Amino acid sequence: MAKRDFYEVLEVERTASDAELKAAYRKAAMRWHPDRNPGDHAAEAHFKEINAAYDCLKDADKRAAYDRFGHAAFEQGMGGGGTRGAGPDMSDFMSDIFDSFFGGGGGQGRGRSSGGRERGADLRYNMEITLEDAFAGKTAQIRIPTSLACEACSGTGAKPGSKPRQCATCGGAGKVRASQGFFLMERTCPTCQGRGEVIDDPCDVCGGAGRITKERTLEVAIPAGVEDGTRIRLSGEGEAGLRGGPSGDLYIFLSLEDHALFQRDGADLYCRVPIAMTTAALGGSFEAPTIDGGRTRVKIPEGTQSGMQFRLRGKGMPILRSKDFGDMYIQAVVEIPQKLSRKQRELLEAFAAEESEANHPESTGFFSRVKEFFGGA
Ligand SMILES: [Zn+2]
Ligand SMILES: [Zn+2]
Repeated sequence: MAKRDFYEVLEVERTASDAELKAAYRKAAMRWHPDRNPGDHAAEAHFKEINAAYDCLKDADKRAAYDRFGHAAFEQGMGGGGTRGAGPDMSDFMSDIFDSFFGGGGGQGRGRSSGGRERGADLRYNMEITLEDAFAGKTAQIRIPTSLACEACSGTGAKPGSKPRQCATCGGAGKVRASQGFFLMERTCPTCQGRGEVIDDPCDVCGGAGRITKERTLEVAIPAGVEDGTRIRLSGEGEAGLRGGPSGDLYIFLSLEDHALFQRDGADLYCRVPIAMTTAALGGSFEAPTIDGGRTRVKIPEGTQSGMQFRLRGKGMPILRSKDFGDMYIQAVVEIPQKLSRKQRELLEAFAAEESEANHPESTGFFSRVKEFFGGA
């Protein structure tokens, strides 16, 4: 049975937000839960389908792969088959930082034409960058072990000077027919494994695979303003195709390192700044760091409370593909002094004796509400 579209299963638009997905999943799961439909096998199957769909779509990476490749994104194992031609250490490395969205040439490869040409697999490269890099943009050099078309045989897999010959078993079709009882069955040609041609004299360099694994250095331009989860597609930089097929694409998946000073929310930055109690009470100013490496003077008014925010317009992150910038918010965290000296304690006690309700409108208001709550006057 053909698999149904995941979005269809959950009855949501392809553009549904994570919250919409979750809501749709909950609703559907409640309705089709086996406990609510005892003995109903169709409901049970549907419930499984809902779970599989939500499992995939709730994960941003899986959803991206599914959006691009459909169910094919998950049907074949990660890491590809023997056609990669990579040594064991190399393939370990590859599976470490790359996930092949679909297998290399395991036999039922996608996009195969009758000539045996096969598109190379798309590759994924995970890159972690700093917030400063995301602010300024950068050119990163990455080294990727990937398979390239073998130069010695121009990707044909046959020794230079020789040519692959048409498969005699299938006549180049890649498929053979056999009758089984009343039926005429078509299956992959056992002689050429569906390629339609046979290599008598394999190329020494690639062993007949038509591609070899090499480490390449690529330059990746990371534009200013990228966010956690941004994907950059480098068309044609993925795995080489087989027997003259086109190359796959390379996807750079960016993730942002946490920053010691700034938290990011879209284009805005937040910076929590501890402020001495006295400065908060009396007012004052201090120097705050900015993401461009500079500093800026921030004035705070007298009576500043913990949690107050001060906006610095245009001091946030650049907005991708525009000349605009977000804002930076300074969040005041008032610090109460600790380890008081005797003199300080005396001064504070004298201060406390002078305090009035007007100094503390919040707590005065709160405690009068508490009184009302207990029925007092
Ligand atoms: Zn070769
Ligand atoms: Zn054949």
